[in-house]
Amino acid sequence: MRALAVYPDQAELRVINVAEPAEPTGHQVRLAVLEVGICGTDREIAAFEYGEPPPRSDHLILGHEVVAEVIDTGPLVTTVRPGDLAVLTVRRQCPVPTCRACRNDRQDFCTTGEFSERGIKHAHGYLTELVLEDEQHIIAIPPQLREVAALVEPLSIAAKAAEQAHAVQQRLPWQPERGRVLVLGAGPVGMLGAIAMIVTGFEAVVYSREPADSRRADNIRQLGATYVSANDTPLDKISATVGPVDVIYEAVGVAPVAFGSAQALSPNGVLILTGIPAPTAPVALPLDQIMKDIVLNNQAIIGTVNAGRTGFALAIQKIEQAMYLFPDSVREIITSRVPLDAAPDLLREPHGVKDIVQIRH
Ligand code: BGC
Repeated sequence: MRALAVYPDQAELRVINVAEPAEPTGHQVRLAVLEVGICGTDREIAAFEYGEPPPRSDHLILGHEVVAEVIDTGPLVTTVRPGDLAVLTVRRQCPVPTCRACRNDRQDFCTTGEFSERGIKHAHGYLTELVLEDEQHIIAIPPQLREVAALVEPLSIAAKAAEQAHAVQQRLPWQPERGRVLVLGAGPVGMLGAIAMIVTGFEAVVYSREPADSRRADNIRQLGATYVSANDTPLDKISATVGPVDVIYEAVGVAPVAFGSAQALSPNGVLILTGIPAPTAPVALPLDQIMKDIVLNNQAIIGTVNAGRTGFALAIQKIEQAMYLFPDSVREIITSRVPLDAAPDLLREPHGVKDIVQIRH
């Protein structure tokens, strides 16, 4: 069967032939891959800047935003059956006995860094035809979600972020209202972040580089969100323009924008960071002012990475709600579907917001 692999030492990205997985045993499930979404992390791996092949392998099979169909199951499997449509989680537990996160199946909070991530770190990914996986990492989804199911993995990050922001706000001595969220960035993580926050009950404002009359801005307004273009409003004027901001959801991966945005946050607000910035030259920021404001206003800055089963389950709920409320806006996030042979080019040059590699129809 075919797969898309990166060879970091040879700086090569190519479609290769690999052996098919064996028949499933025990709790294993064999799945046929239908679609795999491509994100910034995949593009960094394809540019040999990120990612690590499995131990003793010279290559890494890419892909972690997967939709698949269950083909057959080992004798002990109880949660999925042949024919089920499913999404698979990305991160796998570290082997360290004292890691409480991994021992409690919350490897998204792993404390040792010795986790693996399929298609990213020390484990092959899903950009291939068949995969074998333990049922604990597989979540069945309703068949009617198939056309947008590749969005579940990136949405799981937003769903975890919404849950984390809510958990942080439990520190307040009263039950806070959801209030207003400022989403930084209108890429896929930003768009899906806006969707996750809107269906969670927030009023959303999306702030990004695209002009206010762009198609992306229209798509955001169709969600019922307000769009503010960085061309028209500097970040430090945003709250003067849209009103107090209770939560900032960062999805740009640009550190000065992320930390500079703290100035737009209301007292007791929370800034939640999801972007993984590429290294750039140091920049000057008014850190004294930012720190003073954070302290005097009881603000919280937290990071969030990856998502466990609960994040995926929440994402499935949220995408179902979003497909009921604004199906066209959700569909529009997916801008292209290409076959595996076209994947190397797609990884070098994005076609649109969310590009997908289609493995099987
Ligand atoms: C993936 C996460 C992963 C992170 C860091 C993201 O693109 O969606 O699952 O934890 O990259 O490797």
